[in-house]
Amino acid sequence: MTVTVATKKAVIERDGGFCLMMLPGCLGEAQTAHHRANRGSGGSTILDDPANLCAVCVPCNGLAEDAGAIVRADLIRRGLRVEKAATNAMTLERAKATPVEAIDGQRFYLVSATERRHINEGRP
Ligand SMILES: [Zn+2]
Repeated sequence: MTVTVATKKAVIERDGGFCLMMLPGCLGEAQTAHHRANRGSGGSTILDDPANLCAVCVPCNGLAEDAGAIVRADLIRRGLRVEKAATNAMTLERAKATPVEAIDGQRFYLVSATERRHINEGRP
């Protein structure tokens, strides 16, 4: 199983249509959905949950995979990368509890494929 095209489209729309990573070479416009916590091979599809996905462009998505320590730390700070917890279910909870930073610096909890919630409104 992978993330469906419909889910990717919804996530991109939810996140405003722009790549949230903005790494060097960023295209600006988002084309795909990035797993904030890597699903890993042969793993559970639980991490395909939209709360674990954010809108990115293809070049940034590729760069994020082999990011060095500095980029990695920056992605974690912006909520675009989430470290694995003991189980996939706990990792997903961690992703839900970690807001992502939009390109205007505002922070949102990712609730579903269509909903995000500003941190000022509190945890969903
Ligand atoms: Zn990008």
